[in-house]
Amino acid sequence: MSDDRTVFRTCPLCEATCGLQIEIEDGAVKRIRGDQDDVFSSGFICPKGSTLKQLYEDPDRLRKPVVRQGFDPDGAPVFVEVDWDEAFAVVAEKLATVRQTHGNDAVGVYLGNPNAHNLGWNTHARAFLKAIGARSIFSASTVDQMPRHVASGYLYGNGLRMPVPDMDRTDLLVLIGTNPFVSNGSICTAPGYPDRIEAVRARGGRVVVIDPVRTRTAEAADQHFRIRPGTDAVLLAALVHHLIATDQISTGRIGTIVDGIEHLGAAVKPFTPDAAATVTGIDAEMIRALADEIAAAPTAAVHGRIGTTTVEFGTLTTWLIDVIAIVTGNLDEPGGAMFPCSAVERVRPNRTGRPYRVGRWHSRVNGNPEVQGELPVGDLPDEILEPGDGQLKMMFTVAGNPVLSCPDSHRMDEAFASLEAMVSVDIYLNETTRHADVILPPGSPLEKDHFDIAFSNLSIRNVANFSPVVFETDQPAEDDIIARLSMIVTGMGDGDPDLVHDQLVSQILANDVRTEGSLIEGCDADRLAAMVTGEGGAERVLDALLRTGPYGDAFGANPDGLSVEKLRDHPHGIDLGPLVARLPAALDTETARIDLWTGPFLDELARLEARATEWGADDRLRLIGRRHLRSNNSWMHNLEVLVKGKPRCTLQVNPADATGLGLVDGGRAAIRSRVGELTVDVEVTDVVMPGVVSLPHGWGHDRSGARLAVAAANAGVNSNVLTDPTALDPISGTSVLNGIPVEVAPA
Ligand code: SF4
Repeated sequence: MSDDRTVFRTCPLCEATCGLQIEIEDGAVKRIRGDQDDVFSSGFICPKGSTLKQLYEDPDRLRKPVVRQGFDPDGAPVFVEVDWDEAFAVVAEKLATVRQTHGNDAVGVYLGNPNAHNLGWNTHARAFLKAIGARSIFSASTVDQMPRHVASGYLYGNGLRMPVPDMDRTDLLVLIGTNPFVSNGSICTAPGYPDRIEAVRARGGRVVVIDPVRTRTAEAADQHFRIRPGTDAVLLAALVHHLIATDQISTGRIGTIVDGIEHLGAAVKPFTPDAAATVTGIDAEMIRALADEIAAAPTAAVHGRIGTTTVEFGTLTTWLIDVIAIVTGNLDEPGGAMFPCSAVERVRPNRTGRPYRVGRWHSRVNGNPEVQGELPVGDLPDEILEPGDGQLKMMFTVAGNPVLSCPDSHRMDEAFASLEAMVSVDIYLNETTRHADVILPPGSPLEKDHFDIAFSNLSIRNVANFSPVVFETDQPAEDDIIARLSMIVTGMGDGDPDLVHDQLVSQILANDVRTEGSLIEGCDADRLAAMVTGEGGAERVLDALLRTGPYGDAFGANPDGLSVEKLRDHPHGIDLGPLVARLPAALDTETARIDLWTGPFLDELARLEARATEWGADDRLRLIGRRHLRSNNSWMHNLEVLVKGKPRCTLQVNPADATGLGLVDGGRAAIRSRVGELTVDVEVTDVVMPGVVSLPHGWGHDRSGARLAVAAANAGVNSNVLTDPTALDPISGTSVLNGIPVEVAPA
């Protein structure tokens, strides 16, 4: 019987969560386009969305587990396919050997960015990480958004409580270090971001972009300020300075639950607009005018992303963005910065929280503090390569390619090559997983259920959308793989993953029946567990979360509420409405109030003042990163449809700098940082400001042993050869990936 049908699902490739319409003919994907009826994206789709077809069909994607069996004469690893039982047996044996020889502390974990988009990982990560009990957990968060978590932790008592710009209702949208025309938005789930920006302007609002580059977003804005990379904190402090100096502080409702505003004036005193102009390159009058505009706008939302977090003062910058929202009355107000309410959010008892803590342990070699349960990924090579107690001898990597995506790439590669054992959960044999002993490949996105647990917490509108499996496969999804790994790690052996799935469901329900104010408070958890539905482990856990979440059906007590079954009946999703004010109820701070000075921010402002003086006298070229609409960090370069065309891995140089350096468009340049050097094609363009050069990240697919034929033919260069693992935001442990001092010369 032919398999012809049309299905709808949410794109899992980026944070925008677009609805897709997938036409299947004769059991193959014929076409993918935007789902016009999706309650959130209304038909919007970017060029990556349709590539779920190519990803599903990619011949290089692993369909079976592989085990490394030595190396070929050229030193490239040789992998053979094995069945799943055999693969897990090798994992168990390797883990046991390392633990017996070196102890539990010799085992670490690296988690890549795609995990955030993966239902099975989101439902089961806790089980695995708890089972492994490792303190050496690293992730892409410390080359990305960790400052946002830490700032939220100190301000709101919860690192996952992140305000997003209420862009559909704002009168003034200020975007700093973010280019949603190509990234499609980050820490701001807003499908069709470009249309939403246009809508701000169409209703009489204004859009301002602050970026060293005249990005596509900047071109679409009303105003663009070019700023020297890494100096956003100085600009933001100057905005606060001017608001205070001109008596424009107006906290509104939120002021009654915020402590410490009276000390802000003294803290930002050194950051006058005139002083900030010297450091940031933005005219002082323009800084004053921007502050005046934010204060005068009926509503304003300031949003910062990668350019503001992967810098030395990333956490302070993020904190200052929220301070501006607070002092202008825009926090937790429509049109300002608001807190989403996800369909799987846990109902919490009325209690005050515990103090937000970082530094519960430190990295062994460099002594950097743990944040959000993780260590800085810049420390990972040292943790593996430097001898001593606790030296890492075995790593688990899940959906990651740190050899390309993390600082000091060559040393990261050397570190992974030196491990005694390595297990990867990944769909590709990439530049990192080529060092693994075992690779366990889950199915492609079309072969898995999907629900955006992480991004419904960052969404500018509350929505819920479940996507069932499109194609059945005998490849397990992440939930089954992680469940089996969890059992091996805890010493239960390789068993039935249902044991873990059931345990997770039971834990959710047992906790909620005990929780005051939960939808199922006082109910019989075992009876409810028997009512949970779902075909797979992740789906069952999701059903438990949805039914007990803020919009849940409470297992029948709220018949109109959500469950997986209800979402299955709504393939275009369910709109749960605009964001609503959530403070103070959503605060997890000790006092159930916001204290601006909890945490290191006073000291950070003093440190910033000193550093700003140095920056004012430093005219070295600064390297920044770059995104492209047809790229997704390091992992989608094996799809011909996305990499074809003009090579994109170029060094963009401003014409004035090119002339001074003797560089020509289409020529070659040698670029050198403190830690590395590479040679790259030059693109002379005035989109980058003078004094700044730009190179995209995620490229450099030229290592032998990976199985990525298309990517290897379009290798590009790896910008992380140049990033310095010792340069980080000391508060969050996030690597400095923007504003790296470099020297550039003709090659
Ligand atoms: S914007 Fe993101 S979610 Fe939407 S289609 Fe593109 S990759 Fe998928």
